[in-house]
Amino acid sequence: MQAAPEKPTSSEASLQLVLFVDERPSSRKQIQQIHSYLAQLKAQYAFEIQVIEVGEQPYLAEHFKLIATPALIKIHPEPRQTLAGSDLVTQLKNWWPRWQLCVEEYQQNLPLPTEAPTTQTSKSAISSVAYSAELIQLSDEIFRLKKEKEELLAQLKFKDRVVAMLAHDLRSPLTAASLAVETIEITQNWSNGGGAPRLTPAQMEQLSKQARSQLRAMDRMITDILQASRGTSAELHIKPLKLDLGALCHEVLNSLKNRCQAKSQSLKTDIPNDLPYVYADEERVRQVIVNLLDNAIKYTPEGGKIQVSMLHRTTQKIQVSVDDTGPGIPVENQDRIFEDRYRLERDEAKDGYGIGLGLCQRIIRAHYGRIWVDSASDKGSSFHFTLPVYR
Ligand code: ADP
Repeated sequence: MQAAPEKPTSSEASLQLVLFVDERPSSRKQIQQIHSYLAQLKAQYAFEIQVIEVGEQPYLAEHFKLIATPALIKIHPEPRQTLAGSDLVTQLKNWWPRWQLCVEEYQQNLPLPTEAPTTQTSKSAISSVAYSAELIQLSDEIFRLKKEKEELLAQLKFKDRVVAMLAHDLRSPLTAASLAVETIEITQNWSNGGGAPRLTPAQMEQLSKQARSQLRAMDRMITDILQASRGTSAELHIKPLKLDLGALCHEVLNSLKNRCQAKSQSLKTDIPNDLPYVYADEERVRQVIVNLLDNAIKYTPEGGKIQVSMLHRTTQKIQVSVDDTGPGIPVENQDRIFEDRYRLERDEAKDGYGIGLGLCQRIIRAHYGRIWVDSASDKGSSFHFTLPVYR
């Protein structure tokens, strides 16, 4: 009879353990106990152990999903098993015979060597804990870097779009201002040359007024953009994606319609079906629409009217408007209502903290959009905001 071939005795077959310890004084005694028990075992059995201080390698504790320390983990042979808790030595005594069985089974199932194992195979067969720890750390790092890269690329794309939007928006006031200035210049040249259509002082005044107002509009746009770029999107963690604004609006309206019914308010929409997508953070934009509608319902008396409309305002922007037939907002307070904790005295008895519109403004600015209100006392309010179109 042929002798059975010998099983490999490479270190791959041995038991590999990781002991997670911490430096709390309350754990010290327990850690000593487990160390001395493991030393006893070491005298009789072959196994490998790696001791890890959790504070030094927290990502490993996270990787092994540890909830308590000290903890002893059998990482090889598989399946992985974690022992943790105050009676670690007792648990280990219980499990040790089963772990030995596991090792035996594993050794029996090893494939027969076809040739003498090289140092290379015996080395790579056993995955040292330190090595896998390093791998885990590296793959975590790669994952983090990949995510960071994706976010940065998305932000760059977003900024490109904003620059295009700004350039587009600046062009019309710039053209209007240039036209006004050129008209003044031409007519002056003509009048210097003798036979010319002269501008009356009133026309001159009208043209320079027009140029000034267009320049102010450009200045406002640039201020808005600068304010928006001051890190607000990072603060708010804006994650813009391709978004169907119309669908989002219908969803919000649906969730609020009972409140309108309770106040017998009529709720109308004017949302075209062919609106382009916007580039925006869905949850943040939802917050804006909910806040504006919540205010409209809250401040509009029973039986009033609320309307939500959308408009593809320029090639680059979509405008959303929420109109109501409430008490309106006096012109002198129209900017202040977007400040944090600002409430009209008239409304102090109503529920609220005066922070909703401030948040709306931060969100919209972080999307490089604009939010404002049109209102005259007793004529209701119209809140508008813009968002960039997705391309
Ligand atoms: P809150 O509603 O919690 O007070 P907001 O920041 O949302 O806070 O609004 C600020 C203030 O603007 C309100 O207190 C109210 O005086 C006024 N306001 C907001 N929306 C409306 C509206 N639709 N109609 C009339 N006033 C409004």
